[in-house]
Amino acid sequence: MGCSCGGNCETNLIYSCSGAANTGLLADQVMRTLARNGVGDGTCLSAIGADLSGFILSARNATRNIVIDGCPVGCGKQIFEAKGLPFSHFITTDFGVAKGKTSITGEVIEDVSASIAAKIVAGE
Ligand code: SF4
Repeated sequence: MGCSCGGNCETNLIYSCSGAANTGLLADQVMRTLARNGVGDGTCLSAIGADLSGFILSARNATRNIVIDGCPVGCGKQIFEAKGLPFSHFITTDFGVAKGKTSITGEVIEDVSASIAAKIVAGE
């Protein structure tokens, strides 16, 4: 993987915990929505956890790594910290959803995606 633009492009890589909880599902769906909307490219958090060299290199070369976790346990955050990789961090439960309670509807996915996209654009 890698960029061939000659240094003129930005590459945001988006990772989600994709956990079993409803909010892990939301993290996954938000990652896919942001990728579909051109905020960045969705890629695999598990591959970072597994130390796969191509994914680690891509993360080191990314303009920004955006990690979306489904709850404050922060599995994605912990993986990135353990690898010493820079990242911006978002937790779906910071956006009005409750782990184990909130139904993950299309409207919830769109709302949380829009809120996180706005923060990314603002540089948070
Ligand atoms: S961050 Fe929370 S929801 Fe995501 S995998 Fe970890 S424990 Fe599950």
